[in-house]
Amino acid sequence: MELPFAESWKIKMVEPIRKSTREEREQWMKESFYNVFQLRSDQVYIDLITDSGTGAMSDRQWAAMMLGDESYAGASSFFNLKNTITRLTGFEYVIPTHQGRAAENVLFSYLVHEGDIVPGNSHFDTTKGHIEGRKAIALDCTIDEAKNTQLEIPFKGNVDCRKLEKALKDFGDKIPFIIVTITNNTAGGQPVSMANLMEVRELADKYKKPVLFDSARFAENAYFIKTREIGYADKTIKEITHEMFSLADGMTMSAKKDGIVNMGGFIATRLQDWYDGAKGYCVQYEGYLTYGGMNGRDMNALAVGLDENTEFDVLQTRIHQVEYLAQKLDEYGIPYQRPAGGHAIFVDASKVLTHVPKEEFPAQTLTIELFLEAGIRGCEIGYILADRDPVTRENRFGGLDLLRLAIPRRVYTDNHMNVVAAALKNVFDRRESITRGVKIAWEAPLMRHFTVKLEKL
Ligand SMILES: *Cc1c(COP(=O)(O)O)cnc(C)c1O
Repeated sequence: MELPFAESWKIKMVEPIRKSTREEREQWMKESFYNVFQLRSDQVYIDLITDSGTGAMSDRQWAAMMLGDESYAGASSFFNLKNTITRLTGFEYVIPTHQGRAAENVLFSYLVHEGDIVPGNSHFDTTKGHIEGRKAIALDCTIDEAKNTQLEIPFKGNVDCRKLEKALKDFGDKIPFIIVTITNNTAGGQPVSMANLMEVRELADKYKKPVLFDSARFAENAYFIKTREIGYADKTIKEITHEMFSLADGMTMSAKKDGIVNMGGFIATRLQDWYDGAKGYCVQYEGYLTYGGMNGRDMNALAVGLDENTEFDVLQTRIHQVEYLAQKLDEYGIPYQRPAGGHAIFVDASKVLTHVPKEEFPAQTLTIELFLEAGIRGCEIGYILADRDPVTRENRFGGLDLLRLAIPRRVYTDNHMNVVAAALKNVFDRRESITRGVKIAWEAPLMRHFTVKLEKL
């Protein structure tokens, strides 16, 4: 008989987690104003609020931490990190930063100016923030198919090259670079194909523009290329990674995702002018060039994390778990953004809580119900997150209303996924009885989801 699938690691250290009673959870939700960001982590049984900085480091990463070189300038840990990044990506210049958005801040301080237009595939919130904060425009050129949650296509994160070429034609001089996010986080952790990256490169060359990859989940993207794209089955993840980055001029990285560290990030590039331009901002905002906001020990751990997480077995274990949860939801008929993405399942709340009017925030209501049901913390990626229209101050109900279940790397077992799926099924089974949602009692003018206070209706 064929042997079943199992994790590519075993567990050496554990952290206890605690179940709670429904009564306790009702109380905690109320005290948190029905906002899961306000919960204390020890009130949570299974925490799927994000996959960012929540992964479990390996024994080799912890061992590397002990060898960290904390020298201010020229630390060996920096060269460990730099050499690993150069080997994996081909990029010669590396600037460490304390996390992904800091890499954006440093590089965009050099590259993005008022009136610029930066086309790409569903810019991540902080990326968009760093563009719009400089009075420039983040122009979304994602394929339209990404908006249809039930459509099953292998590379739903792709750039629509017709939209991109139109932008390049219309705004030529105003475009400092093209940005491609791999995987496409905002579209549901959906991958971008190598063919698409090649097409983007061709357009970039035709219009003489550089290409930047927002690379937080580049390794997961490489896994999907290997397993879904014709011609890549026999290539290693490291070969695919190298090929992907050969199509870019530089990258910004949130190492809290595919670096499997709790904090860290970097810029890497082959362009000397980007490096020279960004250098000064690194010193100004982050720190000297050979640590840029990171400890020596953390750079060491990141070097090992990048090396490990570009091995097939590690990625297969990770993606298998996300797919495992998706299969359970399929079994129960619960609708989510299809196919399952690399780092999370996005439950389509508008198709689950059909009796909750959109003005009462169905995805937030589902997030609350899942916590009350079993102490599982997901995250609303929907109408509350969308904030208000800056001009009309109306709520924005135009996009998707999703409950995101982000899965930390190497943290939970498939048994935990069984609990998540069962809890969601229990809520799903009584969905018709859930007819009221929440109303906003207090909100911040921007990024309201972190601090919003809600009342249950
Ligand atoms: C997380 C993330 C960022 C920002 O990184 P931080 O480390 O959270 O600052 C940027 N882009 C993408 C695609 C991300 O997922």
